[in-house]
Amino acid sequence: MNIHEYQGKQLLRQYGVAVSNGIVAFSPEEAVKAAKELGTSVIVVKAQIHAGGRGKAGGVKIAKNLDEVREYAKELLGKVLVTHQTGPEGKEIKRLLIEEGSDIKKEYYVGLVLDRSTSRVTLMGSEEGGMDIEEVAANSPEKLFYEEIDPVVGLTGFQARRMAFNMNIPAKLVNKAAKFMLGLYQVYKEKDASIVEINPLVVTADGDVLALDAKFNFDGNALYRHQDILEMRDYDEEDPKEIEASKYDLSYISLDGNIGCMVNGAGLAMATMDTISYYGGSPANFLDVGGGATAEKVTEAFKIILSDKNVKGIFVNIFGGIMKCDIIAEGVIIAAKELGLVVPLVVRLEGTNVELGKKLLNESGLNIVAADSMADGAQKIVNLVG
Ligand code: ADP
Ligand code: MG
Repeated sequence: MNIHEYQGKQLLRQYGVAVSNGIVAFSPEEAVKAAKELGTSVIVVKAQIHAGGRGKAGGVKIAKNLDEVREYAKELLGKVLVTHQTGPEGKEIKRLLIEEGSDIKKEYYVGLVLDRSTSRVTLMGSEEGGMDIEEVAANSPEKLFYEEIDPVVGLTGFQARRMAFNMNIPAKLVNKAAKFMLGLYQVYKEKDASIVEINPLVVTADGDVLALDAKFNFDGNALYRHQDILEMRDYDEEDPKEIEASKYDLSYISLDGNIGCMVNGAGLAMATMDTISYYGGSPANFLDVGGGATAEKVTEAFKIILSDKNVKGIFVNIFGGIMKCDIIAEGVIIAAKELGLVVPLVVRLEGTNVELGKKLLNESGLNIVAADSMADGAQKIVNLVG
């Protein structure tokens, strides 16, 4: 789960990590009120969306007075911001962070991420801040430094200081930077984050070391023990189809292809997507209906697939182990009858109660193309979609 920059900064503040003062605003009036409260001569008006790259896309404005704050707030609120992270459809700006302007001397990068190859949380840092860290990693990897963190000991002061030195933080500020990183690790660990990125971390003319941006990502499987984080969830930022799927405990991820997939088991779902791609098609989603799905759950899953306007055909690929083929057939039939099925449907069923499942589908009156194998089904749906 992601949160907004201003929420990330609230969290950082709780852990004593230095951030600039700022207030969230939902309207131009609130923006002006917030700016007055901050009382600084330079005010930054920042679009709050779950995506980076806002600066380059015009989503971060520097205002010199309250009139400018009002103007920028009016301009940004309701606008659809397209950054390199939003996709071409962009994201509508519904909240702003009104923040005091910092006199930046230099921008750095600091991040914490779970490195799956070492199974350890890793601190990353670079003096090349403010830009895409992927670019730094690709073009000047020698400027990106790593500290692998022992889970028993945690991030040590020694490691944090070594990182600050590697990043060429001015010697006088190394201790401040180290304190920053130690606090950052504390939030990451206690809140079960999966990514924290501070880009940029800045050194100011006054000798402060603070976070100008904050990106957090949390482990969805640990959210049950973080009510405070769950309360920060912003449904406006999420795909409505994914929200609907999560209500029914379905593992659904929306993609940009046109072949809807209904599969049981994550491994089979991945293989199905691969097979579709192999035959030149493009999946519209990942969907694992799970092992013990009921007909109701299957119906909802099928409805979610049908609600996707990009879907030009559907491939149902079921291996009935714990899942029974007749349950799948039932769900497909109910949903198709309720919503009307106008796109081609290819079904491959195998396993428990397969004969009963096929019988139900055959007698349903739905226009279904039967497939004998995953490859056969993938080829058929790719051909039908054209
Ligand atoms: P994004 O990563 O989405 O582009 P950032 O929060 O990193 O958004 O802001 C982009 C740039 O805008 C920063 O690199 C920094 O140069 C500038 N900036 C952001 N916040 C402030 C601020 N409070 N004071 C001064 N400059 C800022
Ligand atoms: Mg940034």
